Amino acid sequence: MRTLVWHRRDLRVDDHPALAAVVGAVVGFFVFDPAILYAEQVIAGRCLRVHGGGKVAFMLGCLAELGQRYRKLGSELLLVYGDPVLLLPKVAQRLAITHIHAHRDGEPGAIARDRAVTERLSAMGVMVRWFDDLGLHTTTEIVTKTQEPYRVFTPFWRNWAARPKPQPVDTPSQLVGVDAEVMAAVADLRYEPSLEKLGFSHAMDLPVAGEAAGLRLLTEFCVGDRLRRYDRGREFPAAAGGTSQLSPHLRFGTVGIRRVWQQTVLAAELIRSDEEQQGILTWRQELAWREFYQHVLYFFPELATGAYRPQMQCFTWEQDWERFEFWCQGQTGYLLVDAAMRQLKATGWMHNRCRMVVASFLTKDLLLSWQWGEWYFMHHLIDGDLAANNGGWQWSASSGMDPKPLRIFNPHTQAKKFDPEGEYIRQWIPELRGQTAAELFAGDLWRPNYPRPMVDHNRQQLEFKRRYQVAKEQCGKLGED
Ligand SMILES: Cc1cc2nc3c(=O)[nH]c(=O)nc-3n(C[C@H](O)[C@H](O)[C@H](O)COP(=O)(O)OP(=O)(O)OC[C@H]3O[C@@H](n4cnc5c(N)ncnc54)[C@H](O)[C@@H]3O)c2cc1C
Repeated sequence: MRTLVWHRRDLRVDDHPALAAVVGAVVGFFVFDPAILYAEQVIAGRCLRVHGGGKVAFMLGCLAELGQRYRKLGSELLLVYGDPVLLLPKVAQRLAITHIHAHRDGEPGAIARDRAVTERLSAMGVMVRWFDDLGLHTTTEIVTKTQEPYRVFTPFWRNWAARPKPQPVDTPSQLVGVDAEVMAAVADLRYEPSLEKLGFSHAMDLPVAGEAAGLRLLTEFCVGDRLRRYDRGREFPAAAGGTSQLSPHLRFGTVGIRRVWQQTVLAAELIRSDEEQQGILTWRQELAWREFYQHVLYFFPELATGAYRPQMQCFTWEQDWERFEFWCQGQTGYLLVDAAMRQLKATGWMHNRCRMVVASFLTKDLLLSWQWGEWYFMHHLIDGDLAANNGGWQWSASSGMDPKPLRIFNPHTQAKKFDPEGEYIRQWIPELRGQTAAELFAGDLWRPNYPRPMVDHNRQQLEFKRRYQVAKEQCGKLGED
């Protein structure tokens, strides 16, 4: 038997069900698919690349490490460039592959691609085996008593939390590779990637990529008391280590989700107080949010292209690109919004509280479409993930499944509450470093080199509510408002 393990968003060897199920010789396989790499989206009449250089650079780092791991274990990772629907059969035929193993992906485009690949390979007599890996539970496992998908998080969470969780799968101690003479048959298909060759660049200060870094972050977060203190620290963007920062690793699968859960179980054994118990529970709830968004995208793929609430399909958004640019560059005059947008541009990551604040600001204060923000996040976030990003944006824009539709954050109050000392603001807005917290939050103070607030929050939120009512009258109402 000779198996090709097709890696996609699972760039690791530990806790890897598809690799662990291999019997006989194995080759790791990854395709640089131009249809994904160079995917474009039309935003305000502009054709823009979905993925940015930071994310691609992080992925290349993960792949470099994965290749080293394969070599250490006795096999190799074959990198190719092109359309997987054509390349998989070609490689399978040249290497006399009998089995293809891969993990399921619930994104609409991936489902169609995987179906096409399976059809072609099956017609050649190659056995294609799909394994579940994205979540602790499969997208179809958590359904209501009447076998319906969930649309609201809380009942989904109750069902999810009540179920036993799978154990991680161990790292293989060694792999059987394929002889060099056989591998010579694909020499012309081998691809040696670089960021430049792929046509990307970035100027971000990125976190360390790869499985070792992912596992290190996970252990540091769970073994000390950060996880157990999560409930207290997670809302404050200035708090170093208040959250796990595992999202890029969960996005590219450099840590296995069962390994993540196992660490929470080990941490739970050290609990000394109700507060610590709550910390673990809240973090597990975040893992469930990730799976909730995967679940709803799977069952309602139309979410990827438009608002879930019909009334929001009729909402009149502004078409002001200049305003959008101020938001992107962190020049709105709202401290927390600007600090967060600058953090995103500099590091490819942003704290969850800030994601909610900047998303609310874009949609409820600037009255610009959540889809513009969704694109910008997807382009710059190294954890940019269709399900989580779309879910976060639809939640923030009041266009999604959240039963509380008119949540509007006051950006000034949010800054005072979640960055009371102004540390995060000063870190990312260097022109304000000389100011005390009292000065930062002193309302209408004029600051040299820093813009005045570009809109009036109170006026804009009234305008948002007015447009929301109009849209509701035009396009009807879904669920309880
Ligand atoms: C507008 C908006 C856009 C977002 N876009 C993305 C995105 O593209 N990719 C992404 O991974 N997350 C996204 N999130 C969710 C969340 O902000 C990040 O997952 C989180 O900030 C990552 O930091 P962390 O790893 O330290 O999280 P922790 O607080 O340590 O949480 C652990 C893990 O749980 C998952 N998680 C946590 N919160 C959420 C959530 N609300 N929704 C889904 N999963 C969650 C993530 O995988 C995260 O790594 C978005 C949120 C909003 C409001």
